[in-house]
Amino acid sequence: MDHLSNEQKLSNTACTRCASQQCVRFGSNRGGTQRYICKDCGRTFTPDPARRGISEERAEQIKTLIANGHPITKVTRLLKVSPKTVYKVIRSVEQPKVSDQQED
Ligand SMILES: [Zn+2]
Repeated sequence: MDHLSNEQKLSNTACTRCASQQCVRFGSNRGGTQRYICKDCGRTFTPDPARRGISEERAEQIKTLIANGHPITKVTRLLKVSPKTVYKVIRSVEQPKVSDQQED
């Protein structure tokens, strides 16, 4: 039996970079979302960023519609999302690197 310290309790969360499950809680960001750090590669990440916004599936739908030239107003109506959400998705497409390396 491994005896891990109380705070270093392993979670079922998989690392977003190397898919290792050797991830432990690593505080939370300003929004209160739980963050994790991977013990294998040292990556810090938020395992479920969609929880604060929309699902990846929905984000994909937004990207597809925008890529096909649909106006934002139509996308918001079709998918029942706010314009803010659409803008957020568009930004994430333009800047793919900002997703999970937000160091405080
Ligand atoms: Zn990792």
